[in-house]
Amino acid sequence: YTFLKKQDPEILEVIHRETARQRHKIELIASENFVSPAVMEAMGSQLTNKYAEGYPGHRYYGGCEEVDVAENLARDRMKQLFKAEHANVQPHSGSGANFGVYFAVLKPGDKVLGMNLSHGGHLTHGSPVNMSGNYYTFVAYGVDAETHLINYDEVRELALKEKPRMIVAGASAYPREIDFKRFREIADEVGAYLMVDMAHIAGLIAADLHQNPCLYADFVTTTTHKTLRGPRGGAILCRKEHAKMIDKSIFPGIQGGPLMHVIAAKAVAFKEALEPEFKEYQRQTISNARALGEALKSHGFNLISDGTDTHLLLLDLRNKGITGKNAEHLLDEVGITCNKNTIPYDPESPFVTSGVRLGTPAVTTRGMKENAMKEIADLIAEIIHHPTHKEEVQTRVAALCSRYKLYE
Ligand code: PLP
Repeated sequence: YTFLKKQDPEILEVIHRETARQRHKIELIASENFVSPAVMEAMGSQLTNKYAEGYPGHRYYGGCEEVDVAENLARDRMKQLFKAEHANVQPHSGSGANFGVYFAVLKPGDKVLGMNLSHGGHLTHGSPVNMSGNYYTFVAYGVDAETHLINYDEVRELALKEKPRMIVAGASAYPREIDFKRFREIADEVGAYLMVDMAHIAGLIAADLHQNPCLYADFVTTTTHKTLRGPRGGAILCRKEHAKMIDKSIFPGIQGGPLMHVIAAKAVAFKEALEPEFKEYQRQTISNARALGEALKSHGFNLISDGTDTHLLLLDLRNKGITGKNAEHLLDEVGITCNKNTIPYDPESPFVTSGVRLGTPAVTTRGMKENAMKEIADLIAEIIHHPTHKEEVQTRVAALCSRYKLYE
């Protein structure tokens, strides 16, 4: 950081302190990860200088010959990774990718089925506080009150009743595998498009550890920065027949110039995801989530759906006499970072909640395995059961983190 040191020591301080925070705390936010130094190099490169409205070979600016190579690499690698016919790697975010699909296929007022936010869906799947819930008529499906699983028969009945133009599958806080094939059958029965938002589970899918939505959906959207371990950003996959419509919807539809440094970093991340080590990393991520869940259960914690098939867990804290909000705060104080989250049929408000969401992508990138998960569960139990034991837990968190290197 030679230049920042001279130019802007205040921002350099922020970077140093944030790096230290990431290094010395246990990162359990399910949507976060630690990118490789190679991904970071591409993001911090001269490619940020380039305007490149349009697509490779069809730009509205001169001098795009080099960034064209980067974007083609990103598109080709992503198609290979997910066995897709077409990839658009320009969305600036997961939300942008979702709106890209909505703008391509929906008219204002059109009916769409999406998963209830408080049952694990995402804001952009029709929440009334989001543009999606204002411009389109979203009807929400949820999970079963007993099993916490998506009830596909109920989704079918809702689809037959509502006749939506599109069904959105995918979630931000659903710990179990989603049956995209079943969603396809339901969509076909009512003549609806199927969009899958695989943001959380994209890495698992790339590693063949979860059903691949590209085999069933008309449109697949994702973020690139969660389990996929790339730079912050979004992408859309679809079949060739929809390629033009999706590309037009992203540019000039809802975005201007693409972020070429981020697209180059996406290409780097997709290359990493094609390596055999990535599959092993994802296998370990799931195995760690299961180990963390089992260890928490042995401390009397209840898990939504009683476990996980993925990288994330949702704890129902009601039997522990603490809200999600207070648990998040307490864990933060001892160096364990996570987020409060509503549980299905939550009696508390979304700002308070009865749950916390935990995920293992970041700790697995640091090299932690099942034994570390057991230790983390012990630490979580210790502080939730004995909130006064802060110093002791802080010391144990610091000792655990010091055993796993990060950006050193
Ligand atoms: N879709 C899902 C399922 C998500 O979990 C998220 C992020 O939390 C998004 C979309 C939005 O991604 P972004 O924050 O990049 O807009």
